[in-house]
Amino acid sequence: MSDQDIKKATRHVNQNEALIFERSSPGKKAYRLPPLDVPAVDVGKALGSVARRDLGDMPEVSEMEIIRHFTRISTWNYAIDLGMYPLGSCTMKYNARVNEFVARLRGLAEAHPYQPERISQGALRVMKVLSDCLLDITGMDAITLQPAAGAHGEMTGILLMHAYLQSKGNPRKKILIPDSAHGTNPATAAICGYAVENLKSNSHGMVDIAALESQMNEDIAGLMLTNPNTLGIFEQEIHKIADILHRKGGLLYMDGANMNALVGKTRPGDFGVDVMHLNLHKTFSTPHGGGGPGSGPVACKKILEPFLPKPVITENADGTLGFDYDRPQSVGRVRMFFGNFGMHVRALAYIMANGPDGLRQTTEDAVLNANYIRARLNGDYELPYKSPSMHEVVFSDRLQAQRGVKTGDIAKRLIDYGFHPYTVSFPLVVPGALMIEPTESESLEELDLFVDAMQSIAREAEEDPELIKTAPHTTRVSRLDETSAARKPVLRWKKEEPTAKNAKNSELVSAGELVPSGRRD
Ligand SMILES: *Cc1c(COP(=O)(O)O)cnc(C)c1O
Repeated sequence: MSDQDIKKATRHVNQNEALIFERSSPGKKAYRLPPLDVPAVDVGKALGSVARRDLGDMPEVSEMEIIRHFTRISTWNYAIDLGMYPLGSCTMKYNARVNEFVARLRGLAEAHPYQPERISQGALRVMKVLSDCLLDITGMDAITLQPAAGAHGEMTGILLMHAYLQSKGNPRKKILIPDSAHGTNPATAAICGYAVENLKSNSHGMVDIAALESQMNEDIAGLMLTNPNTLGIFEQEIHKIADILHRKGGLLYMDGANMNALVGKTRPGDFGVDVMHLNLHKTFSTPHGGGGPGSGPVACKKILEPFLPKPVITENADGTLGFDYDRPQSVGRVRMFFGNFGMHVRALAYIMANGPDGLRQTTEDAVLNANYIRARLNGDYELPYKSPSMHEVVFSDRLQAQRGVKTGDIAKRLIDYGFHPYTVSFPLVVPGALMIEPTESESLEELDLFVDAMQSIAREAEEDPELIKTAPHTTRVSRLDETSAARKPVLRWKKEEPTAKNAKNSELVSAGELVPSGRRD
C-alpha cells in the first residue's frame, strides 16, 4: 500500500481528530425545540444591559458530533479510573462510587449555605460527625473544615501558630523546615511572613536531632514536618523532636498529607504534634485535582482552639447544632461559607463505609503494597535510604543514569507501558528520585504488572537507552514544553485562522501552548 492509500483508508481517524470548529457548518444544531405556543419575547430587551448580544465565535455542530468531540478528548488523558497512578506523595487512591451516590442525595446536594441553621441540621451533622471522626483519627482536640486544600490548610495552621505566639507576646521570626519537605511548606511559611530556616536530614533520611537541638531558639516559631516524611520514612524520634521545640516555646506543625500511612495505627496528637492538616483528597478518597475541589481540614491542640477560623460548629443544649461566630481571637475566615462541603460528605462516606477496622486495614495494605514494590524493584533500581518504608518508596536513577537515562526518561517510558508516571525528581534530597506510591487500591496483579514494566525499562536502559530517552512512543504527543505549559497556560480555546504551520496541531497548541515534538500521526 502506498502512503496515499493508507491516508485514504484511515481518513476517518484523521477526521475524528478534526477540531470542533472544523466540523462546524452554519445552521447545524444539537437540539430541536417544539414550535412556540406562547408569544415570543425579546430576551435582549427583557434583560436590558446584562443581556449578552455577541455570542462570539461558536461552533455549530450536531449532538453526536459534540458528544464524540468531548468523549474523544477525554480519552487523551489518563485517570485513576483507567489504571494505576503511582504518583508519590499524592495518594492517588480509588474514588469510591458510593461517595458520589451519597454526595448526590438531594438534601445534601441542594443544601444552600444561606439556609437557616434550623433547617440545615443534616448538613451540620455531617460536618460535626466528620469533625469528630477526624479528631479521633488524629488525636487532636479541635478542628476546622474550612481550608480548600493541603497548602491552604498549611497556611491556616501557621496562622494559628502565629496568633497563639502573638497572644503570648511574640509571634517570632522563623520556621524550621527539613530539606526533605514538600515545596508547599516553605512557601506557606513565607506567605505567613516567616523566614525559612533549613534543617538537614541525617543519613537515615530523618531529622538530624543534633542539628535541631543546636538550631532551635526563641526566634523560631516552630517546625513544619511531614510524617512519614517525603522519603516515606517515619520520623522515629518524633517525641524528642516535639520536646525540643516545646522546651523553647515553639510548636510542631505536621503536614498530614501522608496520613494514609498512619490512620488507625498511630495518632499525631499522641506523639506531640500541636497542629496539622489533612488532605481529604488524598487520605480520605475524595477526587483529586481536576475531578473536584480539594479539602484540607486543620486539627489542633486545645491551646490553639481559640484562634480557629470562624464560625465553628457548636452543639446546643437541646442537641441541635449551630454556628458560633463569637470568636474574638479567631484568625477570621479562610474560605467562604464552611469549606468544600461536598468533599466533607464524600470523606465521611468513605470513613463510615470502612469503619475503624477497615481504615486500619487500608493503612496496612497501603504500606504492604509500597513494600512489595520496594522488595521487587530493589536491585533493578538503587534504593538510597535503607530505613523501613511506609506508604511510599523512593528509588534513585543512579544505575540508569550511567547510560544517560534519567528519572524523567523512565517516567516517560512508563507511559508507553500504560501507567501514569511516578513522582519525578522529588524529594530533592535524593538526586534523580523515583517516588512511588501505589496506595491500597491496587491488587497484587496490578502491582506485578507495574513491577514487570519497571524491570523491563531497566533492561531497556542497558540495551537501548535511546528508546527511553525519546519516550513516550505510543501517545498522541510525545515530549511537551512542560515549562511553558506551567508558566503560560492557555486555558481557553481561541479560534485561529488555520495557517500551513498550525493547521494540524492547532488544537494541541492552543490547549496549553504546548509545542508537540515528535508527534506520531
Ligand atoms: C499534596 C501535598 C501537599 C499539598 O496539598 P495540596 O492539597 O496539593 O495543596 C503538602 N504536603 C505534602 C507532603 C503533600 O503530599
